[in-house]
Amino acid sequence: MPKFAATSYEFTPYVDAKNWIGGEWVDSAGGQTMDVINPRHGKVMAKVTLGGMPDVDQAVKAANAVVGDWRDRPMRERAQVMYRLKQLMERDVDELAWLVSHENGKTFNESKAEVLKGIECVEYGCALPNLGAGTQLDVSRGVNCRIVYESLGVCGGVTPFNFPNMVPLWMIPQVLVGGNAFILKPSEQVPLSCIRLAELLQEAGLPDGIFNIVNGAKDAVEALCDHPGIDAVAFVGSTRVAKLVYGRGAATGKRMLCLGGAKNHLMIVPDADLELTAQNVVASFTGCAGQRCMAASVLVAVGEVQHIIDEIATQASKLVVGEDIGAITNTESVARITGYIDRAEGDGAKLLVDGRGKAADAGGYWVGPTLIDNVPAGHPAASEEIFGPVLSIVRVDTVDEAIALENSNAYGNASSIYTTNGEVARYVTERVEAGMVGVNIGVPVPREPFGFGGWNHSKFGQGNITGWDGFRFWTRVRKITSKWAQQKDQTWMS
Ligand code: NAD
Repeated sequence: MPKFAATSYEFTPYVDAKNWIGGEWVDSAGGQTMDVINPRHGKVMAKVTLGGMPDVDQAVKAANAVVGDWRDRPMRERAQVMYRLKQLMERDVDELAWLVSHENGKTFNESKAEVLKGIECVEYGCALPNLGAGTQLDVSRGVNCRIVYESLGVCGGVTPFNFPNMVPLWMIPQVLVGGNAFILKPSEQVPLSCIRLAELLQEAGLPDGIFNIVNGAKDAVEALCDHPGIDAVAFVGSTRVAKLVYGRGAATGKRMLCLGGAKNHLMIVPDADLELTAQNVVASFTGCAGQRCMAASVLVAVGEVQHIIDEIATQASKLVVGEDIGAITNTESVARITGYIDRAEGDGAKLLVDGRGKAADAGGYWVGPTLIDNVPAGHPAASEEIFGPVLSIVRVDTVDEAIALENSNAYGNASSIYTTNGEVARYVTERVEAGMVGVNIGVPVPREPFGFGGWNHSKFGQGNITGWDGFRFWTRVRKITSKWAQQKDQTWMS
């Protein structure tokens, strides 16, 4: 496939996304396709093939033909592919970033940051042989126990639209270095970045058939869950679908890890640093146009913090749609986001910054930064995932009220506290119902080697998707107990 030619936001078509099976680009058996739309321009830049069970079955067969040889290679040898992939991604970083920007709509800088974070995930894959040494102990005289991490076999992954390059790379290094073959089902809205990932993996020396892509939507995902030849599936997307996919895959006995949506609460108290807090909160709720599972969604204003809210409003209103803030993924999402804003306004909340009607390009999909004050706790704008550049401010009097509000939310992805008081920081971080907690940081993503994953309705399954937990998810631990002693009567095993 040709490289993606864009070096600016100018509309640039790309090749159609087919399935990548056994090292070949092939159409889905059913022959159906869907448009891939550049959200900045609202124009079709490619088509994506829509697969289902016959395509997943074809990929499983291709994977099974080669996974035995791959599994038998030492982990150090498998990891060499990640060293080469890292170099190739660095070589092509701008091309990969422009592709993310065009298919997803985020700005070039945000896209480049995404690809660089993807490269960090690949670096973690390079380190796995050093971490995966296992362990051993003489548990009694002459008796030794050791554990080794072994591959599961053929695994599946399902990813969302908002990080077309990075979220696949949350899975690829661990699953491949772990000795498995992989079948990825990218979001049908953004399947193009994975074309380049497949080709870079091949260029890095990965044997054909170890990494496969089956494109499509619901049918392809259900096929991954149902196929008896697939041993584990990881999913990243909305809570509604995460729950469905978790249940469907687990019912067939597969190992499942499904990350869902979020409603992240940021708390500010009167002693918070004005400059740091305002800049950070704005970056959190407007970055990637709010289409991040780690984006700030509710600002819990504790006590007298009007000066900070004023500064947040000033900074947010200066952001230029199309330059500082990217496009929204599609028209349905624009309607959903503006619907929440309309409803909050209709119910008496006050719009400090209104992003409705802001557009950088007539054909594209846009919502500008929106700050809504005095949203009642429990209002849909304060409790449901909006997934756009909208921050709902809920006013409370005490830190305990703020914590109670955060904890009453069904999600549990991320939460942050802005304060200059260590005691307050500690009090909050130890009490909020969130898997990822920040102090004076609006997007508290645990970077490698720390694992990414929320709690409650933000995640179904055990462990985290990245870091060491990711490796544990894609491997199984074998425990080997050996006795070579001659003195049979002196050991507890006989
Ligand atoms: P989505 O749930 O609509 O789609 C995710 C994947 O599921 C896609 O590949 C899609 O094809 C597939 N899918 C959609 N409907 C399906 C169905 N009925 N059955 C089976 N599969 C189906 O999510 P999205 O709109 O692509 O992404 C945004 C969502 O993802 C937000 O809720 C966001 O919070 C969440 N997200 C979570 C994390 C995290 O780490 N927790 C990270 C990124 C995004």
